[in-house]
Amino acid sequence: MTRHVLRRRFCLASLLSVIVWLTAASHAAGPIAYRFSFPEPQHRWMQVEVSFPDLPAAALELRMSRSSPGRYSLHDFAKNVYDVHAFDGDGRELPTARPDAYGWTVANHGGRVTVRYKIYGDLVDGTYLGIDTTHAHINMPAAVMWARGLDHRPSTLTFTPPAGARWQVATQLHPGSDPLTLTAPNLSYLMDSPVEFGPLTVRQFSVGSRTFRFAAHHLDSAGDLDDFMKDVEKIVREEGLVFGEFPEFEPGFYTFLADYLPYASGDGMEHRNSTVMTSTGSIRAGRRALLETVAHEFFHTWNVERIRPRSLEPFDLERANMSGELWLAEGFTQYYGSLSLHRAGIADLRALSDALTEFVEAAAVGPGRAVRSAEDMSRMAVFTDGGVPVDRTNWPIAYTSYYPFGGAIALALDLTLRDRSDSRVTLDDFMRAMWRVHGKPGGAREGDGDHPYTSADAEARLAEVSGDAPFAAGFFNRFIRGRDVADYATLLARAGFALRPRSPGRPWLGDLRLEHRGGRLLIADLVASTTPAYAAGLEQDDELRQVDDARVQSAEDVGAALQRHRPGDRTRVTYVDRTGFEKTTTVTLAADPHLEVVPVDATAAGMTPAQRAFRERWLGRR
Ligand SMILES: [Zn+2]
Repeated sequence: MTRHVLRRRFCLASLLSVIVWLTAASHAAGPIAYRFSFPEPQHRWMQVEVSFPDLPAAALELRMSRSSPGRYSLHDFAKNVYDVHAFDGDGRELPTARPDAYGWTVANHGGRVTVRYKIYGDLVDGTYLGIDTTHAHINMPAAVMWARGLDHRPSTLTFTPPAGARWQVATQLHPGSDPLTLTAPNLSYLMDSPVEFGPLTVRQFSVGSRTFRFAAHHLDSAGDLDDFMKDVEKIVREEGLVFGEFPEFEPGFYTFLADYLPYASGDGMEHRNSTVMTSTGSIRAGRRALLETVAHEFFHTWNVERIRPRSLEPFDLERANMSGELWLAEGFTQYYGSLSLHRAGIADLRALSDALTEFVEAAAVGPGRAVRSAEDMSRMAVFTDGGVPVDRTNWPIAYTSYYPFGGAIALALDLTLRDRSDSRVTLDDFMRAMWRVHGKPGGAREGDGDHPYTSADAEARLAEVSGDAPFAAGFFNRFIRGRDVADYATLLARAGFALRPRSPGRPWLGDLRLEHRGGRLLIADLVASTTPAYAAGLEQDDELRQVDDARVQSAEDVGAALQRHRPGDRTRVTYVDRTGFEKTTTVTLAADPHLEVVPVDATAAGMTPAQRAFRERWLGRR
């Protein structure tokens, strides 16, 4: 997610006058100048100095962001800021006030303010700040103070490495006057531009007229990285074929920023012309997982970075950006990531089947759908995309991630479109229509998109590519706004995949995680409302004592007791609830609902020529 842009509706005349005014204003005002230095990187803090020239007379309202492009939840980045001092143009210190937890206000400044502060950061991921003796991993919203009302101003950023360190900068920011000075055209682009400053290895390749840079901070050999790059390039090419073209990358190239380090956290974060990918895995040992992240993040350069939901546009750095479209922005990206890895020859049919299983399970078996639609789950991101809540939540049983859930919608839509058109119309056509109308036209200012989509727009694009508005309305109403499940078994059968029970005939109480604690066998997680255990009154923290009047002391004991039954049988369970009461209940066992997707060519059935042809058009090399 990208921008913090003030946009309102103007008539053409006033729009032109605003452009003239903005042009005049940005000519009059010098750039905001940031300087980053690292006097004690071993202590994981960074010194920031920022100068705001040519200020209007009003008090300067300095802010630390509460949200970060690409994250959907709130964060308190201001908590890591300390030792804040403001100075006027003559170097005299000015008093700062704290209007709230996220800002500093400087009044009576005489038109120029320089602010110096320290900021601590020790998390290498896509959202935070990570400083140490090996690098500075900088996500801008986690690191920089910005000023209200100066969104349109350009900025310069200058990096000074620790004494003796030979670090270089990798970023989507524009090159500046020297290799350690970069520029941003406006605040939203600045905040969308992470920086990796360290001992980087940079590789470069071209596809058509586009240039791709891969800046890696890693511990593998140069040969491992070169070998890895071949697969990265395959993914880039394969995903380009979905849309038929690449976007224009504003700085002139796209940059992958990779931190594959034992002290990184696993993450991937998309930006307009770059992505941050962090992992404890090495190229040698964790290659497949790293490539999955490459495939997901690069697809975002179209889907969400340019094909943008209106709900995320403009991106608000001070509030949570709630979107009901993440099933499309993230879920379809997840689907195309898996598909592209297979089409590019990196993931085999077994690996693809595992991904399809995850999607179908999310939609057909996951308990979230009982209470939430794809849109509802998308909106939950403002809560679920943050840290672990202090209180207990019922998310494990009342929410299914919009990543696999949206992947399931993409799968259903792709196969449905192919099925009803004899493979002439596909999900690629839908994505191209979204790109043509909502992504490619771009915006008036760098980094902007002036044609973000709503759910109704996406439905209209589906009506266009399918040539069938009632079909499009039905699909959206049933599977996106509603809580229906597509007929995955029938759809997958067309492509020669069987959807079958993972454990046929196995009696099932629910997916209860049992934990031995203090000599007691406890239900460790919430019990989903869709399970026999729930119907029988069992809940988290209950201690299981007996099944079928036999003492149970381990998960294995419970499993052994259940195995003597068949689905439909009733069994007595004795337990002690958390208030200390011993109770006995009767559970009517169900059949294990979990599913798996299996290629029929791996089963006795074999594949028909029609299935083979359908699958080839879907999964074959483009
Ligand atoms: Zn994503």
